[in-house]
Amino acid sequence: MARYTSMEFLRFLLFDTHHVETIFQYEKYAHLDVEQAWMIIESAKLFADQEMYPYFKILDEQPAVYDGKGGVKTHPQLKKIIQGAAAQSWIGGAAKFEHGGLQLPEMIFNTGHHIFQAANNSVQGYLGLSTGSADLITSFGNQEQIDTYVPPIYEGRWQGTMALTEPQAGSSLSDIITSATPTDNGYYLVKGQKIFISGGQHEAVDNFVHLTLARIEGAPAGVKGISLFIIPKYRPTSDGSLMYNDVHCAGDFQKMGQRGYSTTHLSFGDNDDCRAFLVGEPHKGLSYMFQMMNGARISVGQCAASVAMAAYQASLQYCLERPQGRLASEKDPTKSPTLIINHADVQRMLFTQKSIAEGSLSLAMECNKLYDQVHGSSGEEKDKHLLLLELLTPIVKTYASEHGSRSAALAIQTLGGYGFTTDFPVQQLYRDLKIMSLYEGTTGIQSLDLLGRKVTMQNGKAVKLLINFISTDLQASREFDNLTPYAFELEKELSRMGKVLEHLSGFALKGNIERYLSDATVFMEMAGHIIIAWQWLKMATVAAQKMKESNFSTNSLAFYQGKIHTMEFFFKYELPHAEACARTLEDLHTLTNVNSFEMFQ
Ligand SMILES: Cc1cc2nc3c(=O)[nH]c(=O)nc-3n(C[C@H](O)[C@H](O)[C@H](O)COP(=O)(O)OP(=O)(O)OC[C@H]3O[C@@H](n4cnc5c(N)ncnc54)[C@H](O)[C@@H]3O)c2cc1C
Repeated sequence: MARYTSMEFLRFLLFDTHHVETIFQYEKYAHLDVEQAWMIIESAKLFADQEMYPYFKILDEQPAVYDGKGGVKTHPQLKKIIQGAAAQSWIGGAAKFEHGGLQLPEMIFNTGHHIFQAANNSVQGYLGLSTGSADLITSFGNQEQIDTYVPPIYEGRWQGTMALTEPQAGSSLSDIITSATPTDNGYYLVKGQKIFISGGQHEAVDNFVHLTLARIEGAPAGVKGISLFIIPKYRPTSDGSLMYNDVHCAGDFQKMGQRGYSTTHLSFGDNDDCRAFLVGEPHKGLSYMFQMMNGARISVGQCAASVAMAAYQASLQYCLERPQGRLASEKDPTKSPTLIINHADVQRMLFTQKSIAEGSLSLAMECNKLYDQVHGSSGEEKDKHLLLLELLTPIVKTYASEHGSRSAALAIQTLGGYGFTTDFPVQQLYRDLKIMSLYEGTTGIQSLDLLGRKVTMQNGKAVKLLINFISTDLQASREFDNLTPYAFELEKELSRMGKVLEHLSGFALKGNIERYLSDATVFMEMAGHIIIAWQWLKMATVAAQKMKESNFSTNSLAFYQGKIHTMEFFFKYELPHAEACARTLEDLHTLTNVNSFEMFQ
């Protein structure tokens, strides 16, 4: 079987770099230990090897497709995967005991999901959506809603979805028009169209639970008038049977990637009989939904990193087997061709991929840890972790998806012409990865969130916290002579970022908010490089510490050297882009505010 992730790297991330054992100190997670954690991860790998990876290509060739009658045909394996994952608690495993979960920290639960994402990212999507939907209900729903909807989702019998997008309201959810009319019977009647709803219809489950945003009649305009509803496709009746709830699947979008993952057009209330059940209080729906969206943003970032990892592993394997050409210094044409991994340019492409995929995965693990710290702690500690998590969420989503795409493109490039053919998986991984910079908020929207909201939260408190957080790691790096120059370099970039923010805030202070935000994506690009450099220095420091210990094998020595080497590579080839972004951001000449569209002709 082809390698699609590295278990050795996952161990290094989980135990050596991000210290999952510190999470077990919280009461919520005290029932776990390191050995159990690893057994759980290994069980995920076994499941992915047996049930997911063998269907990666097949699901692309036999995609989810609309049957013309309200159904979406999906590969039979999907049912086996959803049921198998549910049985092994890969849908509800992170939920509290009281909700039937195992109370697993995200660090463990999401490491398992990383393996699924790398093995077969389309099918992991169905599982992740169910997890997020059930979490939303347990957080904000009433007891009856929890009892009715959560167990069947965790058991893999019902599919959870998030139904936000409408034809006229994608990035701007304040423009949704799906309406909810109150009745005297405790439910609302909903009418409207939702598009691009992932997992909205397929053959692997008996029912669908759509967590839907709609506007109650008479609600204020904008985001303050949006409410959250549970809309089952089949509503449970008093005798325990299920009854059609007027939720019609009107189509399934055919896509360039993630073709095994259904993307549906749903029509609610065509026959005026679509009953919806309000979650929490009216008009607070978007704030509730942000819980699921934030989790999904980290998950999409992690998924992008995982797919980039799978592409890297496939291209590495190819480079270790493919002979082609000779080194420039070899003048004898009768000598056998060398393996392409010996060419400097191929090594550049491999290290670029490794630095992006592993760096992004490390950042995803950092976010998973912060999530666990938020949910394990209280008071000031909790607030601090939450601020950091909020700041890093748009960055992990964006860096991993944008640079993951670049990384997967390089995976194709390293294979040469074969990379473009369907004989190898890298083209599929490249196609699958593209969606990650679009759904759950496009790169443009994430960047506005970062610069417009996260950086300015509590007068910039999150940025200050982050700098302190990174500084602690820099101190550890300075213990090693070979790492000290890199710690200095990163400090320089952090201070450059501070100056850029000072420069930009000048526009905001003068009330020119459009100008303040106009290059938000360039700022995101800069921040992403700096944050990934931090992750690499952190990993390199751990590797340096390990190399000081005497009890490791020769294999491990190469592994640790590889971490330090990749850190050096990232600082030489990738991090300098942050400086280029700073130049653009500080340039007073504005080029993206033209009113004459003829200039685009
Ligand atoms: C395969 C797939 C699966 C999906 N799954 C789901 C799902 O399960 N549930 C769900 O609710 N939705 C889902 N979506 C919808 C997805 O979240 C939206 O497509 C996405 O948010 C973008 O909205 P849009 O397509 O309407 O593009 P638009 O919002 O029209 O954006 C077009 C372009 O304009 C830019 N733009 C828009 N507004 C601004 C602004 N204010 N400032 C700067 N730039 C801006 C965007 O960045 C983008 O580049 C899915 C989409 C796809 C393709």
